[in-house]
Amino acid sequence: MECRDAQFYLRLRRHAADELGPDVTGTLDSHLATCAACAADARAALSFDRALTAAMRSVPVPSGLREKLFTQAAAKQGAVLRGKLYRAGGLVAAGLLVLGIGFGVFSNSRPKVDSQVLIDIASNQSEQAVSRFLVANKLPDHLPMPFDYDLLMHFDMGEYQGQKVPVIVFRSPNGDNGFAKVYIFKSDSRFDLRGLQDAQGSQARAQVLVGQGAYRGATYVFVHTGRDLQPFLRTRNGGGNPA
Ligand SMILES: [Zn+2]
Repeated sequence: MECRDAQFYLRLRRHAADELGPDVTGTLDSHLATCAACAADARAALSFDRALTAAMRSVPVPSGLREKLFTQAAAKQGAVLRGKLYRAGGLVAAGLLVLGIGFGVFSNSRPKVDSQVLIDIASNQSEQAVSRFLVANKLPDHLPMPFDYDLLMHFDMGEYQGQKVPVIVFRSPNGDNGFAKVYIFKSDSRFDLRGLQDAQGSQARAQVLVGQGAYRGATYVFVHTGRDLQPFLRTRNGGGNPA
């Protein structure tokens, strides 16, 4: 595993530890065992996460909210907890500033990426952040489905068959470790998209949407848990499926 991939998986592991299979975890851990730079990043990320959690406990919050967050958190995994902490957004960011837990302390942990995400989320701009990311990759500036950006976990360049592919990950609102991942393939990329079709696995299902109109030139593959994409959409009762 190369450092670049290790960094990608490290970030993924912070946001969704259970999505990494044992082979990835194994390769990642053996890279960390031999690469001082990545190992330092991993340690810094861990201590940042701990500091964030500690900060959250110390921040004055509206009565009931903290109990609610932590009661819910107790029953769930760290990744889900972090999602909720980030969703407390401005509150946490304000708390970090007040407490003087700046990002400088963690400047050796590649803070650019994470602080930008924090800022985007704190300023309620996660949808805009995704837009910027899509535009930067020369893709239509919105996804063709009305995703609920409160559920946004993560977006980045993923790797698929040796090629970089933009991936946007949403979590399930049901606290059940469910997810929806959107892979976006450009039609002028080196991928052969002919014959790409929906698929059904035991854990997840893939739906293919070939972009039309404003989305022409992009092929979207939605890989998600559950029966359809509805839980991940803004209009959860209004329905809607690709195509
Ligand atoms: Zn490395």
